[in-house]
Amino acid sequence: MEKSKSEHIMDKIISLCKRRGFIFPGSDIYGGLANSWDYGPLGVELKHNIKQMWWKRFVHQRDDMVGIDAALIMNPRVWEASGHLKEFSDPLVECKKCHERFRSDQLGGKSACLVCGGELTEPLQFNLMLKTFLGPAEEKANEVYFRPETAQGMFVNFKNVLDTMRPRLPFGIAQVGKAFRNEITPGNFIFRTREFEQMEIEYFIRPPVGDEWKEVFDGWKWEMTQWTADLGVNASHVHEVEIPDGERAHYSKRTIDFEYDFPFGRKELYGLAYRTDFDLKNHEEYSGQSLKYRDPDTNEEFWPHVIEPTWGVDRSVLVTLLEAYKEDTTEKGTRVYLKLPPKLAPYKAAVFPLLANKPDLVAKAREIYSALRKSFPVAWDDRGNVGKRYYAQDEIGTPWCITVDFQTLEDETVTIRDRDTGEQVRKPVAELDGYLGELIQ
Ligand code: ATP
Repeated sequence: MEKSKSEHIMDKIISLCKRRGFIFPGSDIYGGLANSWDYGPLGVELKHNIKQMWWKRFVHQRDDMVGIDAALIMNPRVWEASGHLKEFSDPLVECKKCHERFRSDQLGGKSACLVCGGELTEPLQFNLMLKTFLGPAEEKANEVYFRPETAQGMFVNFKNVLDTMRPRLPFGIAQVGKAFRNEITPGNFIFRTREFEQMEIEYFIRPPVGDEWKEVFDGWKWEMTQWTADLGVNASHVHEVEIPDGERAHYSKRTIDFEYDFPFGRKELYGLAYRTDFDLKNHEEYSGQSLKYRDPDTNEEFWPHVIEPTWGVDRSVLVTLLEAYKEDTTEKGTRVYLKLPPKLAPYKAAVFPLLANKPDLVAKAREIYSALRKSFPVAWDDRGNVGKRYYAQDEIGTPWCITVDFQTLEDETVTIRDRDTGEQVRKPVAELDGYLGELIQ
């Protein structure tokens, strides 16, 4: 079957990611492990920059937020209380002929096998929790689960945060970390994997009177829209979808999915849910510890309610790459470049000596390179000619290339070439740091 243009874009991105050190197939030398991916030298920088930008925006720059980093494996009682052991499942169907498995809610209304057209079994609820054993004996008493979401870390530490930080409502607890789900149909590169990262916030508010929670919910909806703009995502590619009664997760009174026009269809990018006091109440019941908040002015005690915005890190990386990938075709050929927001680019600049065999040029370029690296990550390249170096930096999204030439030796100026426009300006070496620093911000 011929591939559509949009499927080609995925192929191009996967190939660029592998070729240029962003993302490799997991366990590559052993032939891989189905749908697992490893972030390479440039991918880890991009992912790190996305997480840093998130932490800065939602934790460091706000008065009403603190962060935590909880263990990946928690007491199994957590998952009884949260309802995950009972409820966290997807409907699994299997083809009676070719034995391919599908999620029946993702068949797009079809009732036959998507691969061979065979008859499908009745749907069976398949729990997505990934199980393992703690300690040497593989027995029931030692059974534990890798967390399927980071959220429970915040609820379980709610009391610790209250006791140590004494926050006043409304306030939020944020966390970035791995989550694991035994997905039935992982795929589409890093879109759906069994091991992934989330950035989540549990934002605690007073038990609302009537519709009071809606204002906070809308506030977070706005924040999430701002965030996607910061990733460089075109707003017209994102769609807010109200999840109707009966289709929401067991804990949610209202959910909005932010869907994105992926090359493989419109699918969930992020979510926003009103979890009410479901989690705190249940953890109080299961743990026997009070998880109520005491109002410092009135001494009134109650379970706060929760608004939860949630972001997938890997899906953030994927949309950032999809939006940034550009091809410019002229009579000279095709130029591929990643138009990454400078804040997210793995290298902010690259420094080149015009000629690699002129020691004076190399020494000067090295001096500039070493000075700039104190402020931000900078690449060094002295291979081939300058045109080839531009091409290589464009492909990895480096916003500015700095060339040291003979004029530099005379007047301490360099050329700065812009990734997106190809335009060049000459600037004094002494101003480089401030000039680029401002552009990055
Ligand atoms: P989906 O409907 O795609 O299975 P979900 O509704 O189960 O997603 P949530 O439980 O809301 O997802 O998880 C929060 C966020 O975590 C999602 O919006 C997504 O960005 C990310 N996420 C969830 N599952 C995966 C996965 N298997 N691989 C990568 N990211 C994921």
